[in-house]
Amino acid sequence: MKILTTQPNISIDFHHKNLYTNDKNKNTLLLQLQQKPALLPAGYYFPINFKGDTDNIEKQLKQLENIHCPVCGVKMLSQNEMKRLLKQGQKITDVTMFCDWLEKNKDNINPKYRKFVESAKRNSQEFNTNSIDDLLKNMQESAFIASQNTIDEMKKIIEEAQNTKKFSDSDNVLLEECYIRLDNFDVKSTQGILKPIKNILIETIGNLENESEKPLYNSLIKKIFPVAEYQSFFNDFLYKKSNIPYKDIVLQKLFTPSSSNIQKIINYKNSTENIDVNYVLTCNECKIPKDGVFFSYHKDKPDIEKNFITYLEDISKNILNHQLTGHSEYPFGLINLVSKTSGNKYKVDIYKNPVLKELKIQNFEDYKNTIDFEPVNHEGIPCASCGNMTITHEQKLQLYKQVENTKDLKELYELLSNNKQYIGKKYYDTLREIGLILVKNPKISEIELISELRKYEALNIKNKLNKAIKLAEYLVPEASSNDQQLLTQFIQEAKTSFCENYDNKLFPYNKYNNLIKRTIYCVESEKIKTIHGYQFKEPIRKAFTRQGLLYPNKETIEKVGSISKVIAQDMFKGSIATIDHLVAKNRQGWENIANYVVMCKNCNNEKTNYSIMHWLDIHPPVAKNMQKYMDVIVDKLHKGEFKEEYMKKYPFVFAKCLKILTQGKAVIRFDSSKFEN
Ligand SMILES: [Zn+2]
Ligand SMILES: [Zn+2]
Repeated sequence: MKILTTQPNISIDFHHKNLYTNDKNKNTLLLQLQQKPALLPAGYYFPINFKGDTDNIEKQLKQLENIHCPVCGVKMLSQNEMKRLLKQGQKITDVTMFCDWLEKNKDNINPKYRKFVESAKRNSQEFNTNSIDDLLKNMQESAFIASQNTIDEMKKIIEEAQNTKKFSDSDNVLLEECYIRLDNFDVKSTQGILKPIKNILIETIGNLENESEKPLYNSLIKKIFPVAEYQSFFNDFLYKKSNIPYKDIVLQKLFTPSSSNIQKIINYKNSTENIDVNYVLTCNECKIPKDGVFFSYHKDKPDIEKNFITYLEDISKNILNHQLTGHSEYPFGLINLVSKTSGNKYKVDIYKNPVLKELKIQNFEDYKNTIDFEPVNHEGIPCASCGNMTITHEQKLQLYKQVENTKDLKELYELLSNNKQYIGKKYYDTLREIGLILVKNPKISEIELISELRKYEALNIKNKLNKAIKLAEYLVPEASSNDQQLLTQFIQEAKTSFCENYDNKLFPYNKYNNLIKRTIYCVESEKIKTIHGYQFKEPIRKAFTRQGLLYPNKETIEKVGSISKVIAQDMFKGSIATIDHLVAKNRQGWENIANYVVMCKNCNNEKTNYSIMHWLDIHPPVAKNMQKYMDVIVDKLHKGEFKEEYMKKYPFVFAKCLKILTQGKAVIRFDSSKFEN
């Protein structure tokens, strides 16, 4: 898996530009999400359930445990966790245990209410009681005092406002009324204090003529809100009506705000958007009202960026522990959706986060299981490298049989011509030459034909060798003195060591290759090495493989009974479909559909362990042929020709892999109409 750590970030592109939204352009956003783009770029994550029947994401998310709220950061409680926790709480009868237990579960309490734990500890020490009910009674008293103090502060604010003397007489009357009503207010109201105090404020300050006094109202509400919320934990109301112990009601109130809920990121009414990544788990307190975009709504919450990352890590840990099956891409999809809908505010660098990185790697590893790669056994798959039609093993056997059944050279030639699409392009010259020889001399014997062909190929090699020599001679004058020496050495050896007659024997390619390694590949000039190095080597290597076709194995000739038939079979043999590893196996290429592609045997052999990047550099049409290959795969997928479930995922993971490995030089595009449903 070396390759992953050295790759740039794999970004999952949603293809929707300007997805950033606020309420003003929500309709545009909806429209963009509902219309599927005509062409999906490589790397587009299409939500396909890869592992077949898995529970929908909503159901599974709800059951996850140890997840922190992405907004406020509280450790949320699933339904099961909540039940467990409250049951534990019920069993506690001792004050010390109660305080320890609260401290232990503090993370599950919303930060706003964590002062409850501090208050419990303080009161247990101050009053030295062993009854939890007594402790709670004392805590309630403390809460009353806190509320009363707050109300006193509010009165002070009103007094100060009156002292500014900028109010009309009638407004002064309202301020006075507010002051008196607050002064008479009994904080021990059994039904909570928020509502009655709010009413007082609305009826008095809310009716001021002076419109600019709105901040006064807001500052008063802001003051009373937290203490009123806190005090509500101790409201006796429910307690008096039920048999449930007071303590358990208080605990329920304390932990319920942390229960986890499914929310939608894009939450507009009538939104039909049900893609996996549109779901997020939040605590009760961080739910959003209908109609909104989740992270835009919460954008001003403190620490939200940090809390979002913690949430992603929690989810990823769960996935790594085999939870949320079938949705292992969810954290990455979510990152993109949130980033796009928030104008890139929540950008997460996956590879800088150890947990997310581990999941990313694991997701690739998941496809690693050795699988029977279906496309290699399907008819009609073009080679992803040369674009020629490949043949399956069965097709090969059939063609071999047809070759053996031919009665003479003419029939054999016709069979080859009729099945030209299954012959590697590099043999087209040989095929044409056979045709020409047969036209000139229809009654030629097999031995004579082979001899003619061998002379033709030997001449071809000689021409290519002369071209290489000429190229070296051309490069000498401009080269540095060191390079001149090497080029001259090449010229001399090429002229002397390869001047034999190769009409009846194979060209010593290995010896030639060695010469290049010793001379051309040792020059200082990068230009000669990279651009011309290829010109010295490739044409001769190609000519040599064609010559090799004419010297088949003796045993095979004996078995088939005719050298020309073996040659014909070998011409087909190169088109057999094989699995090529984009990243070669001996370069730590992984066994994984993302790394698999069908290539003809010829290309696979030629590619050896070149990197796909280099292969693309020396064979530019590969980029086009990759698209051609994938178009056929997608078409077959569309027609339901593949049995294996993994094939639905294949186009996307392969396209992503190819795009990364070629740094965007080879990009596969998909016709989205083939991916409905
Ligand atoms: Zn929250
Ligand atoms: Zn090929």
